[in-house]
Formats: sequence, structure tokens, C-alpha cells
Amino acid sequence: MPIKKTDQRIDINQRRIINGADADVVQLHPMKHTFAWDAYNAGNANHWLPTEINMQQDVEQWRNPNFLTDDERHAFKVVLGFFTTADSIAANNIVIALYRHLTSPECRMYALRQAYEEAIHTHAYQYIVESLGLDGGEIFNMYREIDAIYNKASFILTFNEGIFSPTFQTGTFEADQKFLENIVVFSLIMEGIFFYSAFAVMFGFHRQNKMQGSAEQIQYIMRDESQHLNFGINLINTIKEEQPELWTPEFAQHIIDLVKEGARLEYEFASTVFPKGIFGMNADAFRQYIEYITDRRLTRVGLPKQFHSTNPFPWMSEAVDLNKEKNFFETRVIEYKTGGTLDW
Ligand code: FE
Repeated sequence: MPIKKTDQRIDINQRRIINGADADVVQLHPMKHTFAWDAYNAGNANHWLPTEINMQQDVEQWRNPNFLTDDERHAFKVVLGFFTTADSIAANNIVIALYRHLTSPECRMYALRQAYEEAIHTHAYQYIVESLGLDGGEIFNMYREIDAIYNKASFILTFNEGIFSPTFQTGTFEADQKFLENIVVFSLIMEGIFFYSAFAVMFGFHRQNKMQGSAEQIQYIMRDESQHLNFGINLINTIKEEQPELWTPEFAQHIIDLVKEGARLEYEFASTVFPKGIFGMNADAFRQYIEYITDRRLTRVGLPKQFHSTNPFPWMSEAVDLNKEKNFFETRVIEYKTGGTLDW
């Protein structure tokens, strides 16, 4: 769109997450959606790279035929199999579906950061596969081969249809609802539910002092993902404020149905890939945990709880609700905040 030559300043009250008036997506200041800027700064403060984590002990533990049980090896590989493609699916959605339609420059700033973080996550899985000498073709193809991973991935990918089209545009009631549905599915379901059984399993390894390097990679990822989820929830709630007509009772019910379907697919994943349970987490506990986090996601966007389950894995909230004062990383802490002290 050509810019108009004018000395009239941008009115930030006209700024919108989508469909912003005159859609100036270049001027960061003055800012309206400060939550996006806060998220951008938090992401930078939490910066990390997979190659900074020592994987030597994991290599020894993986090579030792007596250290891990067959069930633990299977769980480790399947969890990795889910992760390896999940962040690429998330990254594609940000770059191809989300970014183009955001008319808030500060939200675009965070989307750039988030897309890079998804790349770092995919790098982390690649680094684990490479360090342990796993078969990359086997692990990275699991989303096509294992039903419960395939079902989650193909459910998510259906919400790219239409929105990935170069001709898709926001600005009509139907298109805006479709766009909002995409954010809900990717934030609440993909980033808010689909990662969490796998996170719990990796945190289980961590709690057993097994595969600590890999578990630490996943903990850094979990910290980033909880920011992604928060940002997505802020996008949803701000669009609801800016365009309240989109959130009809029918749409709200549709969202509840989708999120419940997401919870069902996640339970199918947990109960079929860990049929005997793992680290004391059995199918019932996974179900309860998935129900608990599903209710939390729903209430964050103003929708009613559906399950009223309590949290069977309270140690997960310690890991997820990480704040600056509390650090659950026992091995090392990478402080990019004090970048001036880095030794080049
Ligand atoms: Fe993410």
C-alpha cells in the first residue's frame, strides 16, 4: 500500500491488532499494545541457544544399555518425535498466517521474536537427535507415522487452510472470525495444550536425574512457550475488546468445542504413547492434567471451565509459572540480561 505524504501524526487510538485504520505497520511509536513490547523484552531477556547446554552426560546415559528402561527410551523418542515437527508448524503459522495480518507494529515485533524462538526450538530437537546419535529420519517422520502425533498435527494444520492463501484478507466478519479462530487454535490448543503431556514426560526425566541436558533444553523451551501462550491470549482478548461483535455466543461455543477436541486429542496422545504410564504418571493422571490445563486456557479468554479437575502434577506449575526470582534450572543459568559481561 503506498504511503500518504502528510504531517498528520498517527492516532494510536486508531491502532488495532487487525484492521487498524490506515494500517501503518511500520511506526513502532507511539505504542498501544504494550503487552507485545513487554513480551519482546522478556523474550530477549530469556535468550538461549541449544548448543550452550552440555549434552555429554546424556550421551553417556543414552549409550549405557542399563541406564534407561525400554519404556523410558520409547517415551523419550516419541516425545521428541512430537516436538521435532510441532515448532515448525507453529513457526509457519506465525510467518505465513499471523504476521501478514497484524496491523500493530509492536505485535509484529514480538511475532518476529517468537518466530525466531520457534526456530531455536526446532534447533534444540535437532541438537538432541544429533548429540545422542538418534536416527533423524525416524524421529522427524514420526508425525506422519504415529497415529496420535499425526492426529494432532493434521487437526492443527486444517486451520491453516484458507488463511495461508495469498488472497486471504481480514476486514469482513467471516474472515475476522476465521483469523481469530486460527489464533485460538494455535495459542490455546497447539501451544497451550499439545505441548504439555510431552513437557510433563521430559520434566519426569529431569526429576529422575535422567537425560538432564535434554530435559534442560525442554525447560528453556517450556519457558518460551509460556510466553507465546500469554502473547496469544493477549491477542485474543485485545481483538475481543477491539471487535466485540466477532465473539458471538455461537463463536464462543465453537471455540469451547475446538478446545475440548484439542484436549481429547492430547489425551489420546498421552494414553496411547505411554500405555503403561511413565514415572508414576498414568493415563488417569494425564487425563486429569490435560483437563486441568484446558480449563485454565479457557478461563484466560473468558470462557467457562469444562472439567473442574485439580492439578495432579503440581510440580509442573513450578516449572511453567516460572518467574524471575525463581529459577528451576539446576545445572546452569545463562544470563543474557548481563550481556556486557560476555566474554567474546
Ligand atoms: Fe511457540
